[in-house]
Amino acid sequence: MSSASGNILELKNVKVVYDNVILALHDVTLNVPKGKIVALLGGNGAGKSTTLKSISTMLASERGKVTGGSINYDGNVIEKQNPSQMVNMGMVQVLEGRRCFGHLTVEENIISGAYSRKLSRGDINQELEKIYGYFIRLKERRKSQAGFTSGGEQQMIAVARAMMTKPNILMLDEPTAGVSPIVMDELFNRIIDIANTGVAIVMVEQNAKQALQIADTGYVLVQGENKFKDTGTALLNNPEVRQAFLGG
Ligand code: ATP
Repeated sequence: MSSASGNILELKNVKVVYDNVILALHDVTLNVPKGKIVALLGGNGAGKSTTLKSISTMLASERGKVTGGSINYDGNVIEKQNPSQMVNMGMVQVLEGRRCFGHLTVEENIISGAYSRKLSRGDINQELEKIYGYFIRLKERRKSQAGFTSGGEQQMIAVARAMMTKPNILMLDEPTAGVSPIVMDELFNRIIDIANTGVAIVMVEQNAKQALQIADTGYVLVQGENKFKDTGTALLNNPEVRQAFLGG
């Protein structure tokens, strides 16, 4: 059940501190409507990853803490939950970098995402086929050892594995980092496909222009605060944003 506003996720005036002293976020407010793509942009250290971790409750492992504001997900105040509870509630985060089990096959990696769902083999196969419907490349390489696939394919594996948790919201930290422009387009197209099935997407991206081209809404973070919020198209056309964040 989403909130009355139609947003599956709402952050209001969120503050985050690391090690009790480092103020990483001092005022972040953002709304994520169901099935929409939200891009989080900003310079190094602006607080993008911290924002994602505050949502997926991954801060504690880094001695970070939400010290102010509120996070509301699907009608629940997020406060004391842990990451695996969040996954069970339909929220999954794909961390920065390519994290797959190199010694396992592509398919074993993807299936590992369904671990907490305790599905039957038949249900797993059904889910897999759905996911292979988006990621045809991964279907072709299903029996390959994941460690030998390309960087872009490993990003796809990470997204596919996250999809096996059947999320309502998928959070992606730099999904296109280090991939070629063609693979970037492919990944962005798959992200659009996933959003079209009703899954909300929050993505942190360094490829800001391309991200804004597919985002319904973009937020630009500056020093722990969201300084600009608008539709992807409006931000692409905003001279101040262009100059400071999009290379003119
Ligand atoms: P980048 O694009 O460089 O990855 P970012 O926008 O994702 O940056 P964050 O990684 O969220 O920014 O960092 C925000 C601030 O919090 C920075 O000042 C950073 O040094 C600090 N920070 C992040 N993680 C930790 C941590 N685990 N412990 C202490 N400080 C941290």
